[in-house]
Amino acid sequence: MTATMKSFAELGISAEVQRGLTDLGYEEPTPIQEQTITLLMSGSDITAQAQTGSGKTAAFGIPMIEKIDPADRRPQGLVLCPTRELAIQVADAIHAMGKHRNITITPIYGGQPYERQFRALQRGIHIVVGTPGRIMDHMRRGTISFDAVKFVVLDEADEMLDMGFVEDIEFILDAVPDERQIALFSATIPPRIAALSRRYLRDPLRISVDRDSLTVPSITQVYYEVPNHAKLDVLGRILDVEDPGAAIIFCRTKRDVDELVQSLQGRGYSAEPIHGDITQQQRERTLKRFRDKQTDVLVATDVAARGLDIPDVSHVINYDVPDDPDSYVHRIGRTARAGKEGDAITLVAPRELRQLRFIERTIGKRIKQLRVPTLADVEARRRQAFKESIVKELHGDALAPYLLLVDELAEEFDPVEIAAAAIKIATGGTGAAAATPEVKRRNDHTMAGDGVGAEPGMIRLFINIGRQDGVRPGDFVGAIANEAGIAGKEIGAIDLFDTYSFVEVPQAIAPRVVAALGHTTIRGRAVNAEIARPK
Ligand code: ADP
Ligand code: MG
Repeated sequence: MTATMKSFAELGISAEVQRGLTDLGYEEPTPIQEQTITLLMSGSDITAQAQTGSGKTAAFGIPMIEKIDPADRRPQGLVLCPTRELAIQVADAIHAMGKHRNITITPIYGGQPYERQFRALQRGIHIVVGTPGRIMDHMRRGTISFDAVKFVVLDEADEMLDMGFVEDIEFILDAVPDERQIALFSATIPPRIAALSRRYLRDPLRISVDRDSLTVPSITQVYYEVPNHAKLDVLGRILDVEDPGAAIIFCRTKRDVDELVQSLQGRGYSAEPIHGDITQQQRERTLKRFRDKQTDVLVATDVAARGLDIPDVSHVINYDVPDDPDSYVHRIGRTARAGKEGDAITLVAPRELRQLRFIERTIGKRIKQLRVPTLADVEARRRQAFKESIVKELHGDALAPYLLLVDELAEEFDPVEIAAAAIKIATGGTGAAAATPEVKRRNDHTMAGDGVGAEPGMIRLFINIGRQDGVRPGDFVGAIANEAGIAGKEIGAIDLFDTYSFVEVPQAIAPRVVAALGHTTIRGRAVNAEIARPK
């Protein structure tokens, strides 16, 4: 944060609210908070654009709390949110910020019994946070009145419009007193939001974070180029090597999410889905398990995950390249929140490269390409982790019961060898901790392949079929020449093994050959070609 940054006190926030912020661990305002709090306290309408994770809740929550007259127990503040989860989160956050001012607040959302909401409303509350549909229901039933509302916030306005809430929002805004203040918060300002703002806001001040700073620098953004069919395998390696504390993986469709969750679970990762077909009850349970670190990986669609405050995500992984730059920004905004650091990793199939370049141009930043981790990297990482766990034990003080046995063995054997034998048993003899990792999956090119062996200017491709599939060298020449449109003589050495093969092609056209082979079959087998990496 820059030196010109104001403190919460300098923004004119009351001592009670400052105490609430301290309880929450907020030390200084985020940029959006610094820009909006004073304006909102002075009574202006605003349209504010800021990315997910920039701290919008406090940006409107603090001025709203300050404006409430605690003696008047009618709703004075109203916050509209797109989803039930968000309504609950925003209500919780504002409650915490306002707790030393005795502000009462309640979330109102679909799916919760009306009875419970009536009772809360009857007790008298200062701030209502809810989804437009359910709030409108209460208005129609006459169980909620906005006669005393002074301040309305539209949170995640673009999302509410995407969800078809525009008429409900208009109905609600038409029903609040004329003498009210409105703040509209949105990650993007499409024309429909601008129109809504023109219609309801009075001389709104527009606050926006410019494009260049849309993605925060503490997010490390990288991508791996991976053919679609190899994505699952590569994802597994990334998870193994990166060992994320908590990761969220984005997929384009619900089906992709379900399939990926199945595959990840099958490979022993604790992954759970978040998408539109997951009931809200399930979603809340999933989120809770994720927050409690019982689940390592959430797999989500964009829409379902938008606006959810999922704390401490160390990694955002895009299983595919999002359709537009805004969703890319939304997605990666799930990590590195509030000053933490985070990694955003995108898996890019060859045909998604153009879309990635478009995103880079829009966000004004190059995304770095990384080499796909090899099995050797994965093994090295496991070995490292195992080593760390041993060192941790050595620093601990709970070894006494085992020392007796070691002493006994040491009368006959060398302590170093005893340790080696114990490690072998502990790792199930898998070689996981061995110095030269054994190659278990022989058909994995990344271990067996040796790209260094190619002729200058040529590159070795690993291909997932071999002699056992009845393949002969001529099959590769034919397929590559036909599919990639290159002359047979340009193809270099072809090495056939039982279950896989290596084919050398000119480096310059290797990506084309890889892409072309990905669409073809040889001897009835789907082909997967990848650039073979040296060890
Ligand atoms: P947005 O609505 O812009 O996506 P949130 O209001 O949900 O962002 O805030 C994102 C995270 O940052 C939350 O966990 C919140 O508690 C935290 N946060 C917000 N403001 C601050 C601050 N001034 N200092 C530290 N953490 C903050
Ligand atoms: Mg928010």
